[in-house]
Amino acid sequence: MSLNVASDRCLNFSAGPAALPLPVLEQVQSELVSAPGCGASILEISHRSKQFKEILADAEERLRDLLAIPANYRVLFLQGGARLQFSMVPMNLLGADSHAAYLLSGSWGKKGLEQAKKVGATEIVWDGADTNYDRLPTDSEWSVDPKAAYLHITSNETIQGVQFAKDPTVANDVPLVCDSSSDLLFRPVDVGQYGLIYACAQKNAGPAGVTLVIIREDLLERSQASLPGYLNYSEHAKEKSLYNTPPTFAIYVMGLVARWLQEEVGGLARMHERNLAKAKLLYDVIDESPDFYAGHAQPADRSLMNVTFRLPSDELQAEFLAEAASHNMSGLAGHRSVGGIRASIYNAMPHANVETLRELMVDFRSRKAS
Ligand SMILES: *Cc1c(COP(=O)(O)O)cnc(C)c1O
Repeated sequence: MSLNVASDRCLNFSAGPAALPLPVLEQVQSELVSAPGCGASILEISHRSKQFKEILADAEERLRDLLAIPANYRVLFLQGGARLQFSMVPMNLLGADSHAAYLLSGSWGKKGLEQAKKVGATEIVWDGADTNYDRLPTDSEWSVDPKAAYLHITSNETIQGVQFAKDPTVANDVPLVCDSSSDLLFRPVDVGQYGLIYACAQKNAGPAGVTLVIIREDLLERSQASLPGYLNYSEHAKEKSLYNTPPTFAIYVMGLVARWLQEEVGGLARMHERNLAKAKLLYDVIDESPDFYAGHAQPADRSLMNVTFRLPSDELQAEFLAEAASHNMSGLAGHRSVGGIRASIYNAMPHANVETLRELMVDFRSRKAS
């Protein structure tokens, strides 16, 4: 029996876990029962086997290549999702006589701050709540105390659809910590600007189960030996991500996604061009008729990953979602906390699928707009 994979697949606009590149899924399928050189499935081999260590080293090397990660940064493959990082970041980086600074550009940044507050002193350097998190601050609207242990930002707010278009610069030496869970690998970034970048994989970089942490080596010295073992970055660095059994299969798939970016997309600059073109398809429709499709984010800070907008009424929104479903599109309902429509168009989302959504938006508007 062979499955007609392509025609059975929906146009998946899910915010996460999200669509993976089809060639990656096909390779996983072909290697599932017996991976080359393993004589077994990757699901069945030891994390300390030569074969898995090669998979781990290969995934790291490809990520280092794509992101041009400097030699003085360590790459850790952890579990627990971004949520565990909300706690691990302050537990490791925030000393007893210091405080952590948070820039709040949406729901995820707020959740990160909540966890940091349980660990120690915090400061909010800017909060976009006044305008319901529809924008980022200008450089003159915020500053960070040079004594802060770190400054935490969220590069892409997945729920509101607000994203930093370029790497923010911090005026002093305060290490910049970035939750990049929903946009890691969407464009080249200057890793050297950051002290720590973390990302769960299941939005833009792979399957659920693995969380990437890229940390500047000197920051590992802050991890106190009294921390519980799993929560200590320096333990994971010392054991090269094999402190305990890592999420082996998820790491393998993440490595394949990195290879797809290198070999089929041609690197992150090319990926960025593709992402700009895809997002433009939808934002152009929004800009043509802001009274019908009202974008949530202000144009300068719009996300290339999560396009958020509302229709004039809840009824029209429900009708739109029903029509989208009848055209095999799924995952378009906005997050339960903000409503509206959210089209998540991560790296793996094909241009043609975004065009199909655009066509529905244009057609729906021509029938329903008064
Ligand atoms: C999804 C998401 C999270 C939470 O990730 P988990 O892996 O579920 O813990 C945190 N931050 C951002 C920006 C996200 O998009």
